[in-house]
Amino acid sequence: MTMPSVQVVEIGRYEFKPMPVQPPAEDEVLVRVAVTGLCRTDLKIIQMGHRDLVLPRVPGEEVVGTVEAVGRRVGGVAAGEQVYVYPGIWCGRCPACQSGAENLCHAMQIMGFHRDGGFGPYVRVPAQSVIPLPEGLAAEEAVLAEPLSCCLNALELGRLHPGAKLGIWGAGPAGTLLARAGHALGAEPVNIEPDRRRRDLIGGLESAGTACFDVAVVAVGNQSAYREALTHLAPRGRLVVFSGLPPQDDRPAVSFNQLHYQEQTLVGAYGCCLRHGRDALAMIAEERVPVTDMISHRLPLLQLGKALELVASRAGMKILLDPWQEDSTP
Ligand SMILES: [Zn+2]
Repeated sequence: MTMPSVQVVEIGRYEFKPMPVQPPAEDEVLVRVAVTGLCRTDLKIIQMGHRDLVLPRVPGEEVVGTVEAVGRRVGGVAAGEQVYVYPGIWCGRCPACQSGAENLCHAMQIMGFHRDGGFGPYVRVPAQSVIPLPEGLAAEEAVLAEPLSCCLNALELGRLHPGAKLGIWGAGPAGTLLARAGHALGAEPVNIEPDRRRRDLIGGLESAGTACFDVAVVAVGNQSAYREALTHLAPRGRLVVFSGLPPQDDRPAVSFNQLHYQEQTLVGAYGCCLRHGRDALAMIAEERVPVTDMISHRLPLLQLGKALELVASRAGMKILLDPWQEDSTP
């Protein structure tokens, strides 16, 4: 029996749809999806659309699975191997790619946005996008390597150094991973989170108080968090613009004189590079970044509606979806 995929047909509406399984092209692999992660971005692309979304589309940019078939010219990865899928597809030739920032490739194609992603039983991806899982790493832990990769990119751009005071606005899945990655990199992270349920897991603070941070990362999409983070930034501090804002909130919240007199830096962060995926997998496999306690729900993909409600109400932490599980809801 073929399990259905989720296809977003228009903004605000998706369908469960059996999709034909295409054999991989000569430089691609076909991956049987073991687990796919749901994140706030998926809620956003389904309900509101996204700059990079092209419809109709099967979403899902956090994928771990088993290689089912490989294209004629593929070497280095074989059928039966468990792999993590880096969601980006990049050209390798443009200035961004040449500088090691393939996430900013001028021809970037993101799985689940420009190309079909992991909300289905199979996904076809370029062989250059898959990374074999480290020995002994479970698929449901490995799938958190994608959000962790984005956190590593953000901390790299914030030039986080050992001993740095790291302030993170938000303690959802991204905020939690930022804190744990920051700790693994030798910094002193603190999460600022008004929601007690979320704060409790990471032991964060309700407000920043009198704290002053070398690096501040905003992992919540509201401008008041950006304003607050700026007021707690140390001289020469770096504020990482990690979370996007709704278009109506995208107005400058920053005093240029503050940046000038305090020699502070604002830096954007969006997505991740392939090397961040390798680093993230190693950090999870070596238990430098624990993730198992972050998994709050494991649901059949067929219960996507319920899963999206959990994300919208912030009732869960990390929600994992299984495209092969039957929906046992009566
Ligand atoms: Zn490129």
